[in-house]
Amino acid sequence: MINIIYKATFVLLIFKLLMTMYQRKFNENGGYKRLVSLYQSLYLGVIYIGMSSVIARGYNLNLVYLVLIVGVLVGILLRGKLFPYTTKCETCHGRLKLSQILFLDDKNCQKCKK
Ligand SMILES: [Zn+2]
Repeated sequence: MINIIYKATFVLLIFKLLMTMYQRKFNENGGYKRLVSLYQSLYLGVIYIGMSSVIARGYNLNLVYLVLIVGVLVGILLRGKLFPYTTKCETCHGRLKLSQILFLDDKNCQKCKK
């Protein structure tokens, strides 16, 4: 179980880093979301390094769960900074496109922008 969580964290970290690189395409209108993506990568990187340290030094493997719990608590405390995504338009409360939710800073849909 620990091995699966450890590998999944690494895959997620690589995915977030690739997503941050892809977000360069939206740099004009999505600078803040790109910065948030970088913060998320840093957050996952710190958790991954914590788990790697426990495994590499041969400590009790249950400490990996402690690292994960502390990581989740820090994520909950920083949720405003780490997850600033909104799925609804600020003006008309309609659904936003996934690309706009993930990549663009503007919280208004195409109709409300005009
Ligand atoms: Zn709208």
